[in-house]
Amino acid sequence: MRKILLLLSLIVYSLPSQAAEPWFEKLKAEASPEQLYRFLYALPKGGDLHNHLTGAGLSEWWWDAALAQQGRGYTYYTKVRISNCIAYGSSNEYGFAPYLMLFRTLQGSSYDKLEPCQKGEYKRLQDLNAAEKQGWLDSIRLNEQYEGRNEFFGRHWERLNELWRNPYVVAEILFRNMQAFGKENLVYLETQEGPGGELKADGSTYTADETVAIYRQRLADPDAKATGVTVRFQSSILRFLPSAEQNLRELYEFTDKHRDLWVGVNMVGREDDDKGYPLRFLPTLRELRKKYPDIHLSIHAGEVDEPNHHVRDTLLLGAERIGHGVNLITDPETMLLMRNGPYMVEINLISNLLLEYVQNFQQHPFPEYLRTGIPVALSTDDRGMWDSNMSDEYFVAVREFNLSWEELVQLGRNSLKYSFVQEPVKQKLLKDYDSRVERFAEQFRKQGWDSLKDVKPVSYSFTCKHYQLCLPRE
Ligand SMILES: [Zn+2]
Repeated sequence: MRKILLLLSLIVYSLPSQAAEPWFEKLKAEASPEQLYRFLYALPKGGDLHNHLTGAGLSEWWWDAALAQQGRGYTYYTKVRISNCIAYGSSNEYGFAPYLMLFRTLQGSSYDKLEPCQKGEYKRLQDLNAAEKQGWLDSIRLNEQYEGRNEFFGRHWERLNELWRNPYVVAEILFRNMQAFGKENLVYLETQEGPGGELKADGSTYTADETVAIYRQRLADPDAKATGVTVRFQSSILRFLPSAEQNLRELYEFTDKHRDLWVGVNMVGREDDDKGYPLRFLPTLRELRKKYPDIHLSIHAGEVDEPNHHVRDTLLLGAERIGHGVNLITDPETMLLMRNGPYMVEINLISNLLLEYVQNFQQHPFPEYLRTGIPVALSTDDRGMWDSNMSDEYFVAVREFNLSWEELVQLGRNSLKYSFVQEPVKQKLLKDYDSRVERFAEQFRKQGWDSLKDVKPVSYSFTCKHYQLCLPRE
């Protein structure tokens, strides 16, 4: 009897090492970087739960979408020289770009209102020479070593400017994301994009309902449907604005009205601006919860350098998901609260590196969360500005943290399980995910690399720069 017990306990204790799928361990040990990337590109994935639509456009996509707007009466101009038309560079904390900044893009209705001197600083996009075009493309991505957080938070959106206020352009950025994610075998996108202040060609604004109708129409187009990617939106407030509480009230009303497409509310904006601290919103959210049932909250928290209790405070706000959670690692009590809990952390590895919240991937707390039972999923945040994709996030995770097959599958599953999509849709996506992953693994086990011979992975400059893995962009 004792022998049997001993044998049983040996079997039980030896389970964890047996749990790692040997074929995947072999793959990791033997695959070249290109092969590993090919495998991860083809791997069935779940969703992207942390994605800012206007940060998710590759530079070339913005360019194409901008030029395609001629037919709707939009002409875009961008600043290519500084003629000192204004004595001092004027800048305002919220909304007005600094004068001393190239490649700020305007639409014709705003260009027409400029003084002649300033008009001379701008050129139509289609008139840029090759060097200017390259400068424009590079001006909205973090492509230089010295570019980091300030360039991203303070320049990129200020440059895109009126381009991201054209709902047709944004709808096109949405479509290009669906198309690219579909090729990477994602099936769900929950993107942050709320209407507000979209511009018609004459400079007047669209109503929220008009903007929603434009998105709905684009999603209904056959080419969008053919991507196989289900889309839902979150609306978001810029948390440090003086008007943030009022904006939050308006967003709840909007989200409640468009529940089929808008499934949650988020709070964005750099967290090191203390004006947007989490508990500021507790009274407003309590007021709103008296009126609105079941509005999901995913909120950025812990995307800062210093230790603080932002993640804990954000859970108190009612958040079901935490965006980033980088500094959760400094708050042991909240970590304990989240172990095996219902709250998921949306992990953005590449974003955190490029915006310098970690100096290198070994500093990232992701493996600690993953392997202590805090629910996590990988997401892309502002992939357009990182010039990256979801496969890159998986590649980084496997390369840097030696993920097992089980962990990979868990990450993909979590990215659907913790989504805010309507329950019947979620169940269907999960069921499909399980069978697609099983089929994919089975085919690879049977046929090896032959099963992936037709896969043509696309990658951008991130993996090329960081891993010397340079693949075609299209
Ligand atoms: Zn974000």
